[in-house]
Amino acid sequence: MTHINPLEKYFRQATVYIQLPTRGRWYNNSQITLTADNELAVYAMTARDDVLLNTPDAMLNGEALKKVIMNCVPDIHNVDSVLLPDLESIFVGMKLASSDDGWDVSRICPKCGAECTFGLQCQPVLDQQLLVEDSDCFVIVDNKLKVNLRPYNYQQRSLFIQKQFEEERTLKYFSDSNPDVDEFHKAGVWAQAIDRISSMTFGLVAGSITSIEEIQTGNVVEDTAFINSWLQNISKAQADLVITGVDTLNKCGPMKTLPMACESCSHTWQDEINYDPISFFVKRS
Ligand SMILES: [Zn+2]
Repeated sequence: MTHINPLEKYFRQATVYIQLPTRGRWYNNSQITLTADNELAVYAMTARDDVLLNTPDAMLNGEALKKVIMNCVPDIHNVDSVLLPDLESIFVGMKLASSDDGWDVSRICPKCGAECTFGLQCQPVLDQQLLVEDSDCFVIVDNKLKVNLRPYNYQQRSLFIQKQFEEERTLKYFSDSNPDVDEFHKAGVWAQAIDRISSMTFGLVAGSITSIEEIQTGNVVEDTAFINSWLQNISKAQADLVITGVDTLNKCGPMKTLPMACESCSHTWQDEINYDPISFFVKRS
């Protein structure tokens, strides 16, 4: 009996090749295999992927999305290491490979209140994506330190989303189950939640610093504990510089704002768009 499936040649093929916004920076061969042209092959989603993506509970658990990514992009060997700009580009690639149709976004015109629908096509979104430049990958603090940065990876991203969701749920539970609670107590819980969210943001930023170089000596610090300690003992202005640097990196990839034009009053404006799979792939009927 042969173990080669004669039907294999009828399996779906890679139909889309995308350029990663990071251009493969920060990856090694055990994480991602790129083509000779530095591209990544993307396959269409299967029926099973579609079911996984349309199960909201499964989506909140990053493991389900991880399975779909590995199935559509088999050259990714470690989803946890995939960086946010690349991930968004991969989502658009998966959509393109699965159906050419693109997708619609609905926005309310800020001038006349008319509901406007804009059709987006996957290929132009991929063609216009913002690539990471060398100058995006570090910030200089006070001409003394060169802080080397990378975008959030999948692990950081799902942690961020999950914790954000938990925080929202805690607050909702609190306001639903304690309608008579005095405002002072409520404010206290709110402050604690904000504190947790900000310490989480801090952890995420710390995790995005790959190393810090002392410019004068060329000495490089890579120890995470030393870096965290540094981050906790700098001024707010210095920390904001690092946070902005990480934000800038995370905003690379498919465009995060798009030019909109109202069909009723011709008003034009820039609106935000996100590629989060919860809003991006899930079907609304
Ligand atoms: Zn309008």
